[in-house]
Amino acid sequence: MSANMIDTSSTLEQAIAAAKPAARRSRQARVVWGSRVVTIGGDAPVRVQSMTNTDTVDVIGTAIQVKELAIAGSEMVRITVNTPEAAEAVPHIREQLDRMGIDTPLVGDFHYNGHRLLTEYPAMAQALSKYRINPGNVGKGDKKDRQFAMMVEAAARYDKVVRIGVNWGSLDSELLAQMMDENAARAQPWDAQQVMYRALVQSALSSAEYARELGLNPNNIIISCKVSGVQDLISVYRALSQRCDYALHLGLTEAGMGTKGTVASATALSILLQEGIGDTIRVSLTPQPGEARTQEVVVALEILQSLGLRAFNPSVTACPGCGRTTSTTFQELAKQIDDFLREQMPVWRAKYPGVENMKVAVMGCIVNGPGESKHADIGISLPGTGEAPAAPVFIDGEKALTLRGDNIASEFQTLVENYIEKRFGTSVPA
Ligand code: SF4
Repeated sequence: MSANMIDTSSTLEQAIAAAKPAARRSRQARVVWGSRVVTIGGDAPVRVQSMTNTDTVDVIGTAIQVKELAIAGSEMVRITVNTPEAAEAVPHIREQLDRMGIDTPLVGDFHYNGHRLLTEYPAMAQALSKYRINPGNVGKGDKKDRQFAMMVEAAARYDKVVRIGVNWGSLDSELLAQMMDENAARAQPWDAQQVMYRALVQSALSSAEYARELGLNPNNIIISCKVSGVQDLISVYRALSQRCDYALHLGLTEAGMGTKGTVASATALSILLQEGIGDTIRVSLTPQPGEARTQEVVVALEILQSLGLRAFNPSVTACPGCGRTTSTTFQELAKQIDDFLREQMPVWRAKYPGVENMKVAVMGCIVNGPGESKHADIGISLPGTGEAPAAPVFIDGEKALTLRGDNIASEFQTLVENYIEKRFGTSVPA
């Protein structure tokens, strides 16, 4: 083919078609608190969940952290309910949140004694909107089914959603042992990893089946099978999504700290979400010393926004800088604009509908600066080393003006504010 011929083969057409996530096909659950309804699955947006790390007995401390997580963008917040004292605290946390105007649904995390707590503390069972049950931690032997049933019956009684949350760190040991024995008797046994994947999926699905037999509405069942390896998580969730239509909660358990935890979570969740697998997500980051608990929510939002699944904040495109930028001016401006947009969003979200879809570019020099700035709604191309000290600003793809002098940062911030007011402000007729 000569260079000036256009290749219209279907293979190429497919290759250049806009990439988009596959459609999800799960049932839809409704997690409710008061008039707040968070739909999960079906055609609902992928939801963001998080978890507190306060002592649940500390009512005020827990309520404050739930509020912080909710303001950061968490649409449900899970709290540990591990003792009678924690169970007694839950309704007070709920009341405190309601007083603070936070209607984010609370999810109770139960292990070992959830059957007793959900039975003996009805106010706690009512105040929660969703229960997480770990089939590996509901009891051993003949107690297992009975105690699982007590939790499911509480959910049915109060019309609450249940997440059957399997975790490979607490996988049902009796089920795993049984499946290992069965595997050993096979003519061609699977390897141990394959058996573990199957045991995770089997534990979740057989528990869901039992919950339905006990009378739980199948739309009130959400499934998760968390593991801490990226490839393991992808394998398990692909298998899970082929075998059921329950809404799926995704998360890489014990993802770790900082860059490692962030990258591992983003990698695993993005691959699955692109395949249409996953209806809620949690990023299980270990906070670094001094780091806010809300960082896990920030990362979760970024994953969904980067995939184009949801929009939460205006995005700032900034180049990495190179030998053409020997000053830190453009790094400082990119950070200043990014911080400014995030700080304003709690107010702007209501005041400027659609502002979360805005794109801002802050670029370091003339090589890609004007081009990238034209692709943004508003962008600035700062002067690189040796360039004239002028910063052209592009608005809606056109060069609008050039900034010069020592106040470029504050002047550009004002231009961004004016742009938002003009484009997203809803004028009220006199
Ligand atoms: S836009 Fe300029 S400063 Fe930024 S990375 Fe590209 S060449 Fe370097």
